[in-house]
Amino acid sequence: MNPIRKIVIVGGGTSGWMAAAMLSHHLKPGVCRIELVESTDIGTIGIGESTVPPFVGLIQRLGIDERDFMQATQATYKLGIQFVDWRQRRERYFHPFGVIGKRIGAHDFYQCWLKARQAGIATDLQDFSPCSVMAEKGRFYLPGEAQNTPIGGAGYAFHVDATLVARYLRRYAEGRGVSRVEGTVLGATRRENGFIDAVELADGRRVEGDFFIDCTGFRAFLIGQTLGAGFEDWSQFLPCDRAVAVKTSSGSPIPPYTRATAGKAGWSWSIPLQQRVGQGYVYASAFCSDQEARSTLLRSVEGKILDEPKVIPFVSGRRREIWRFNCLSLGLAAGFVEPLESTAIHLIARGMDFFLRYFPDRECDGALAREYNRRMAADYEEVRDFIVLHYCATGREDTQFWRWCRNMTLPDSLRERIELFQGHGALREGVDELFRSASWQSVFEGMGIRPLKHCPRVDNLELEQIASTLDMARQAIRGMVGNLPTHEEFLRSQSRPSW
Ligand SMILES: Cc1cc2nc3c(=O)[nH]c(=O)nc-3n(C[C@H](O)[C@H](O)[C@H](O)COP(=O)(O)OP(=O)(O)OC[C@H]3O[C@@H](n4cnc5c(N)ncnc54)[C@H](O)[C@@H]3O)c2cc1C
Repeated sequence: MNPIRKIVIVGGGTSGWMAAAMLSHHLKPGVCRIELVESTDIGTIGIGESTVPPFVGLIQRLGIDERDFMQATQATYKLGIQFVDWRQRRERYFHPFGVIGKRIGAHDFYQCWLKARQAGIATDLQDFSPCSVMAEKGRFYLPGEAQNTPIGGAGYAFHVDATLVARYLRRYAEGRGVSRVEGTVLGATRRENGFIDAVELADGRRVEGDFFIDCTGFRAFLIGQTLGAGFEDWSQFLPCDRAVAVKTSSGSPIPPYTRATAGKAGWSWSIPLQQRVGQGYVYASAFCSDQEARSTLLRSVEGKILDEPKVIPFVSGRRREIWRFNCLSLGLAAGFVEPLESTAIHLIARGMDFFLRYFPDRECDGALAREYNRRMAADYEEVRDFIVLHYCATGREDTQFWRWCRNMTLPDSLRERIELFQGHGALREGVDELFRSASWQSVFEGMGIRPLKHCPRVDNLELEQIASTLDMARQAIRGMVGNLPTHEEFLRSQSRPSW
């Protein structure tokens, strides 16, 4: 046995401190030391505020008190994303978390609903999603405390202040023995076999380690600059490559969802926190200048602007090898799929989950890294396909950008998924637990892609039985949601007095 005795994390943004928190939770402090190097001169990206449900699961698995975390990070609840103007202007749809409907007998809910629609029964798919109905009414309740009720199948995530999350996880990790070094890494020394030996700081100090985790953001200092792992660029599918972001004062009521509004050359986000709102415009520089993007954002923001708008360039894509030699990359250093479905923080957690599953010794068996890279590539590609769907299915023709989106050449995997769905509503089995059938069905429906036929098996069920079950289910959800607290009332009930 040749166990890893020291892991060095370079970077102290969300990914660095998430890695430190997860490692310190899983590894015994006496057996493996964890050191995190961060540069206060460079700073963090400071955005990344909308999460997905597995993030709540991670907080729980780390043994963190959810209410304490929410209070410390100014968090609000998120039930999904409202998409405005995506298929056509003045149209909106909701992509909810959690389930949509329950099986009817042995039959898949979506297929039953489809049969009802095809028979002329006018029901909206989202009427059967507890999250969609709660979001529409501005209500919230924890589904875990309402199991076996019509909202028991809901899911939720958080909107958080990214800087406060990194601070919270730092406290958590330092409390479990992680040590922090302040300094800017300027170089790295390598062994004959290519492995990194140590990183060298601007003041001349060296930080040695057996294994390194590159969390240096878009700089990708170790995995890219030092080890030369190439980058697969997905701009041909995802043309947005810049964002301009600003913080604004809070409005009321606080919606329990993220809003993504399609614009002329991209889309804008609105992420409500307890005491402010994060807003931004993501755009394609081929179709829009920074100046135009800034004006677009400033024209559309609601509330008082609290800071200077900041432009952030990015490229969607992923490292060809996310793990190379004795270096793993996480977060923006590993890859980035533009932020429409708020997936980046989730991919950090997935990256760590897989690393813990394939945890190496000091020799870092190449087979482990190859399997890790294969699994992570599949996750990134699934997220990419899901996001491209939001663009390519648009019916908009009003700007050059949207015409480009309608006519782009799709990744084969997405083209096959669309063909499969258009036939009988079948879905390809995913690799990640993130975007399940309800997600794909919601976005397909919202973007106007409905299967031509339902699955013939549903013909074993009488239409009357389906119609009456749908009617009861819709009423049950609406009835219950009507009696729930508003999102703000619920947030207040969860907050602890500050004395
Ligand atoms: C426009 C936009 C919107 C986004 N929205 C979301 C969202 O809603 N939800 C979501 O999940 N994600 C979102 N993301 C992604 C999210 O911001 C990141 O995944 C997350 O913040 C993690 O970033 P990071 O820690 O990898 O990098 P960073 O925050 O950039 O941190 C890098 C760290 O490395 C350090 N560093 C860099 N170079 C060196 C060096 N040479 N020496 C020492 N230290 C160094 C820096 O000081 C810093 O501490 C968004 C991203 C963009 C661009």
